Amino acid sequence: MQEVLRKLEQVQEIDIQINAIMVKKAEFPRRLIGYQTEIQSLSTKFNDKKKIVDELEKGKRQQLGALELNEERTKRSQEKLEQIKTNQEFQALQKEIESLKKNSTVIQENAKKVGDEVEKHKKELDVFEAALNDNKSKLETETAKVAEESKSFDSELKRLTGLRASAVDGIDKRHLNMYDKVRQTRTGVGIVAAAGGSCKGCNMRIPPQIYNDLQRGSELHTCPSCRRILVYKDAPRVNDPNAVV
Ligand SMILES: [Zn+2]
Repeated sequence: MQEVLRKLEQVQEIDIQINAIMVKKAEFPRRLIGYQTEIQSLSTKFNDKKKIVDELEKGKRQQLGALELNEERTKRSQEKLEQIKTNQEFQALQKEIESLKKNSTVIQENAKKVGDEVEKHKKELDVFEAALNDNKSKLETETAKVAEESKSFDSELKRLTGLRASAVDGIDKRHLNMYDKVRQTRTGVGIVAAAGGSCKGCNMRIPPQIYNDLQRGSELHTCPSCRRILVYKDAPRVNDPNAVV
C-alpha cells in the first residue's frame, strides 16, 4: 500500500503542474479582450464621427455650389446692365445686383462656418483614429505573445502528460479512479497528508481507528470529511505551512 500511495503522490505532483498550466492558458482570452472591447468602442466612435464629417463636407460643397451659381447670376446681371436703356430698368437691375451680392456674402459666411465645423470634427476623428491604431497594434503584439506562450505551454503539457502516463503505470485502476474522482471535485488535489491526527486537506480530525490504520499503512483510507486519499506523514506539526486546504 505504501508503494501505491508513493506513486499517487508522484502523479499528484505532475497533476498540480498540469493544472497550473491549464489555469494560465485559460487566462489567455482575458488578456486580449480588453483591447478587443476598446477597438470595438473606438470603431463605433470613429464611424459615427466620420458620418458627421462626411455630412458637413457635403453641406460645404453645396454652399460652394450655391455660391458659384450666385456669382454667375451677378456677373450676367452686371453685363445686362450695360445694355439697359431706361432709367427705371437700370435701377431695378441694380437693386437685383445688390441683393445678389448680399446673398453671396451670406453664403460665404455659411460656407466658412461649415468649414470650421469640418475642421473641428476632423481633429476629433484623427484622435479616434490614432487611438484605434494604437490599440490594434497592442492587440497584435499581445496576440503574438499569447501564441508564443501557448506554444511553450503546449510542449510542456505534452512532456507532463508523458510523465503522467509513466507515473500511473503499476497503480491499480481502482485506486487511480478513486484519486482522479476526488481530485476533480477537490480543487485538483486528490491525495493529502494525514498528520497530527487530522487531514491536511480539510483540517478535520480523523477518527482514531482510521488514524491507527493509516499509521500501520495496511489499507488505503480516504478522509471521511473531504474524501481525499490520506497518506500518513510522520511529522505531526501544528499549522503545517504546506497544508492544502
Ligand atoms: Zn479531509
